[in-house]
Amino acid sequence: MNPFGGRFDSFAAKMRAKKIDMALLCDACDIYALSGAKCDAGVLAVLPSVRAKSVLYTDFRYIPEVNRLCPWLATGDISRLSGKKPFAARGAVKKRIGFDPGISHARFLSFEKAFPGAEMVDVSADIASARAVKTAGEIEKIKAAAALNDKIWGRVERRFRAGMTERDMARLLRREMVEFGDGEAFPTIVCIGANAAECHHVPDDTVWDGKEPVLVDMGVTLGGYCSDMTRCIKPARASAAYRKVYNAVLEANRLAAAAAKPGVTGRELDAVARRYLSKAGFGRAFGHSLGHGVGLEVHEPPYASRKSDWILEPGMTVTIEPGVYLEGNLGVRIEDLAVITDDGCEILSHSEK
Ligand code: ZN
Ligand code: ZN
Repeated sequence: MNPFGGRFDSFAAKMRAKKIDMALLCDACDIYALSGAKCDAGVLAVLPSVRAKSVLYTDFRYIPEVNRLCPWLATGDISRLSGKKPFAARGAVKKRIGFDPGISHARFLSFEKAFPGAEMVDVSADIASARAVKTAGEIEKIKAAAALNDKIWGRVERRFRAGMTERDMARLLRREMVEFGDGEAFPTIVCIGANAAECHHVPDDTVWDGKEPVLVDMGVTLGGYCSDMTRCIKPARASAAYRKVYNAVLEANRLAAAAAKPGVTGRELDAVARRYLSKAGFGRAFGHSLGHGVGLEVHEPPYASRKSDWILEPGMTVTIEPGVYLEGNLGVRIEDLAVITDDGCEILSHSEK
């Protein structure tokens, strides 16, 4: 049975409403989110007609698994898609073909060729909104990944010692992520002292003197789903400047978390944190957006940014990660992962701030 059945049906209904004759999805996460089948090499042909069976084209390695997991889908050999009449067996003339953002240029051209004169319609927004609202089962998996993130951070943070490099610290975290989970959701970021002014600093051989602040941005993958969290180790005798920035970022994080609820747009949520940091004198030092959804991918819709029109709904995840970066001096980012509930949000990151 399709674990995301409702999502597949509502996506198909959307395609019907848009008069799409066939949506061809190539992105592995899009395919997984609609079918529950993981295949790196696949094309999911969604036939919106209620009578037609949709087809998952994949290769020999995945077909038995897809047959087992998705009896409600037909399977097809993906190599046939490079043939002369790839979709011949699917009958009727197709006038409007949907495609997702995972399509390669070569594949796009081959689809155009397979359906001469058909209109190619970008359905990225439809698949993104279908994925943005998580099912109860997905939320459980994301919660488990966030809980493991907390556990690993708790275990590793206390093992940081003066003399360790950023690389050493990242390695400790990575090891635990492999030991207890399915590895890193993205390359772990560890920044000692002024390196934290670089938002996506790559851990290097900078040595910790045990007194400088340390910023760690980490995410673990568990059961296919990601977590994402940033914490800063604030030294007992942090400079007054650091303390001021830290407290401002913490308050921006708190205000945004309190404002996250259904009906609020990504832009409005971003503005809550941005307004506060601007008033505190750090507006220009908060150069990135407030947050992003987390699920099968660590960065996915919805987005909470200055340009985002996403409207938050129950079941969406979003990170709340305001930051202030003063080049050559310091950087502070505090990131929590949240899931939108019926009347607010539940914060899934419980590590101490
Ligand atoms: Zn992060
Ligand atoms: Zn993030």
